[in-house]
Amino acid sequence: MPGTASPAWPEGVIGRYVTVGGATVDITSGATPHWHCTACPGTSRGAYTGPFGNPFTLAEIHEQAQAHAEKCRSLARPTA
Ligand SMILES: [Zn+2]
Repeated sequence: MPGTASPAWPEGVIGRYVTVGGATVDITSGATPHWHCTACPGTSRGAYTGPFGNPFTLAEIHEQAQAHAEKCRSLARPTA
C-alpha cells in the first residue's frame, strides 16, 4: 500500500537507520542489544562468541548500525 507514513516498527526494535540502498538496519533490545540489516546478512550477532554475550554497549551498537547503513547498498526484498 503506497503512502508516506513509515510502517510500524517490528516488536522489539528500538532503533532504525536507513541504508543508502533504502533498507533499514534495525536495532533490537533484549538481554543484549543487537543490530541487523534487513537487506543483507549483516548483523552484530555472531560477531563475538565469548562467554559474556554481546560485549558491545548500546551506544556502540548504534555506531555500528549507522556505519553499516552508510555503506550497505543491498536492496530490501519487496514485501508482498
Ligand atoms: Zn546491509
